[in-house]
Amino acid sequence: MFALLLAAQILQSGADTAGLMRPGVSQALATRRAAQVGDVRYALDLDLTRLDSARGHVRISFRLRSPGDVIVDFRGPKLMSAVVNDVASPDLDWNGSHLRIAQRFVKAGANSIDAQFTTLIAPAGAPIIHFHDETDAHDYLYTLLVPSDAHALFPCFDQPDLKARLTLELTVPAGWIAIANGRASTAAPPTHFRFAETEPLPTYLFAFAAGPYARFVGGPRSTPLLVRTSRAREVEVDSLQNQVASALGSLEQYFGTPYPFQQFQYMLSPAFPFGGMEHPGVTMFNEESFIYREPPTLNQRLGRRATIYHEVAHQWFGDLVTMKWFDDLWLKEGFATYMAAKTQDLEHLPNPWMSFYLRNKPAAYDVDVTIGTTPIWQQLGNLDQAKSNYGAIVYNKAPGVLKQLNYLVGDSAFRAGVHAFLAAHRYGNATWRDLLGAIGAAAHQSLDDWGAQYILRPGMPVIEQHLEVANGRIRRLWLVQRPAQPSLSGPGPWPIRTQVALVRQNAPTTLLPVVLRADTTDVSAAVGEPAPDFVFANANDYAYAMVLPDSASVVWLQRHVGAVDDDFLRAMLWGSLWDLVREARLAPKVFVGAALRELPNERDEQIAAGIVGRLRRGLEAYLSPADRDSLVPVAERVLLSGGVDARRPYGIRKSQLDAYIDVATTPAATARLDSWLDSTTAAGLPLRQPSRWSIVTRLVAVAAASADRRLAEEERRDTTAGGKRRAFVAGAARPSPDTKGAYFGRYIADRTLNEEWVTASLRAFNDPDQSALTLPYLGAALDTLPWIQRNRRIFFLGSWLAAFIGGQHDATALRAIDDYLATHSLPIDLKQKVLQTRDELERTVRIRRSYGGGA
Ligand SMILES: [Zn+2]
Repeated sequence: MFALLLAAQILQSGADTAGLMRPGVSQALATRRAAQVGDVRYALDLDLTRLDSARGHVRISFRLRSPGDVIVDFRGPKLMSAVVNDVASPDLDWNGSHLRIAQRFVKAGANSIDAQFTTLIAPAGAPIIHFHDETDAHDYLYTLLVPSDAHALFPCFDQPDLKARLTLELTVPAGWIAIANGRASTAAPPTHFRFAETEPLPTYLFAFAAGPYARFVGGPRSTPLLVRTSRAREVEVDSLQNQVASALGSLEQYFGTPYPFQQFQYMLSPAFPFGGMEHPGVTMFNEESFIYREPPTLNQRLGRRATIYHEVAHQWFGDLVTMKWFDDLWLKEGFATYMAAKTQDLEHLPNPWMSFYLRNKPAAYDVDVTIGTTPIWQQLGNLDQAKSNYGAIVYNKAPGVLKQLNYLVGDSAFRAGVHAFLAAHRYGNATWRDLLGAIGAAAHQSLDDWGAQYILRPGMPVIEQHLEVANGRIRRLWLVQRPAQPSLSGPGPWPIRTQVALVRQNAPTTLLPVVLRADTTDVSAAVGEPAPDFVFANANDYAYAMVLPDSASVVWLQRHVGAVDDDFLRAMLWGSLWDLVREARLAPKVFVGAALRELPNERDEQIAAGIVGRLRRGLEAYLSPADRDSLVPVAERVLLSGGVDARRPYGIRKSQLDAYIDVATTPAATARLDSWLDSTTAAGLPLRQPSRWSIVTRLVAVAAASADRRLAEEERRDTTAGGKRRAFVAGAARPSPDTKGAYFGRYIADRTLNEEWVTASLRAFNDPDQSALTLPYLGAALDTLPWIQRNRRIFFLGSWLAAFIGGQHDATALRAIDDYLATHSLPIDLKQKVLQTRDELERTVRIRRSYGGGA
């Protein structure tokens, strides 16, 4: 009764809506409005003939279910007028965030609001991104509104559960083309584009692109692809068109429903801050990672395919059925990544689940073991904080948890549940409870407890293996699980269904299915089995848990991990050994030694790349100075010979050569890098522009005598937009206080600086060997977080923190962060992000303290 009364009051007029007028879109506003408004349509008209701002007009049509003020969201620079139901209102009640239409101007049933406004166009910090191509002086525009920039573009109800039909018209300069969510009408004059009304879409999926783009139409589905003119010749059109068609076909089959929008069109967006974005009709991919400037490694190809499948899967999961609110972001992200792997498995592509493991699990565990982690479902009070919900938990943990769910209920119940979910909420919205309800119904079991443990509970389990052997046979094998962060997760086990592998060389592997329901689980089926070389409690990666092998297994693995035949298993075992290092239970020197020993023999490109990545982290951060001095020359030698070895696959050679360039420290190695710049090859491989820039960046970072000259020469040699970007990145690596000061100043004050350039340069700026130079910026980098949250796009904040904190490795820096957190009251979401990143620094300090590295 109380709640009902309160709701009735809120829906009344005037001062009651004052609280809802604050910046952003609060959940209170969204809830009220979803109950009040329906049948929303936007007719939006934008003039894009200037490159700094656009003038626009929108007509918002909607049905009002209950009387009360109507609040429209708009935070663009200028709102000139608003006419309600064709009657101009005398005064405009607009506070820069929202426009309030007093209830006396609206009526029950059909209403309309006409608004004239301007919106910003800029390289960064605007809803319309402007990219200027230095190569041919062309200009390109595209929008990116997720999660809450639709109301920076135009006045609207900016919340995912007020899906609306959009009719868009664009006026553009001569010679441009444009695409949008709806199909383009052919009748329009050449500088005017009119697009058909869309299916119901959430505002964050509204999108268009305009500019002198090159357009390809082809492939099995005749899909249109846009790319900027100067790079059109480099695109592997056939390969992309085939993968898009293949993903569309497989997903239509799996979901049992045809592509649900007018037309699948896609584009390669220049200087795109994400990997991809799933707007129906304007699906965007990152140009930089989709056009290869040199022959790609297998990992690059697999990454590109995984991104295509992810964005295509979103057309159903996210676009057709949308989360009700961004607290359920995981629903679409987790599903898209999980489906990307599942589809590749259904298409019989090689080893998709190993790639899935490598791409997701270590990244998920790295965040989920920290005290700053969040549940998969993340409460969200206001859409302007939604960016904080993006990260490894929704992108990497959620798909891992879905894999566990699929294994728990089985393939047919999982698929039947997904079908029922999609059918029930087509063109509408849903929550995670709807999904688990549908899958649970199909599986004839309640998933309530499962949801409470995996969706609502923060943190993750660590499983420790214990093994007792007597007379060559297993006497007892038991698994003990505990929360990685007991104070955060609380006590009690997660329900886990897994497979335990008992592995002996030259004997078949024994796989034992096990369900963990308690803190300690005995694997009784193992008793009496021959003593294995090693045990691994997450064979095939069904469980979402960090597995720490028992001591006998560790002893065997650190000597023989490379001898494990099964690629997928070997990939996971390297992960477990690395986890032991990060838990300060295995000396980094032992891991680095194993990596250097096995790298020359590792035949799988993806695993080799994983070993190289960990080797680099071990060398740059974990080893004691003495160990580092003795092991860096060995690493240089191993990586160089891996790069030179003509018997090995190109991808393995290339990734080792790249790593060699990045770790080259000894005078002989940096002199070799320098000499390669006078050649057309390096280590027997063709030397192309990206590697040339990596070499220049390294020479700048180590302050080689030739660095300035080489940088200047390379800038003259590569005059493309990409070259300008790489020169900017290389400059950030210069170990001088003036350079660091100048770059940091531009990062936060230069509005003309493209956001993606900043992201690309952060690692060079925070070179781990320059921690003394960058430490003074740590406090300022943290001070900037609220500004970043308001002004930068989704993934920027994580990259920023990872770079500034990741470039540090001693106790002084750790203290600086802790002092900062103690003396500043950051909003909880930002504090969690800092704590997630701080964890790696804390581990680094602990490892160095435990293994003689000092701190
Ligand atoms: Zn996604």
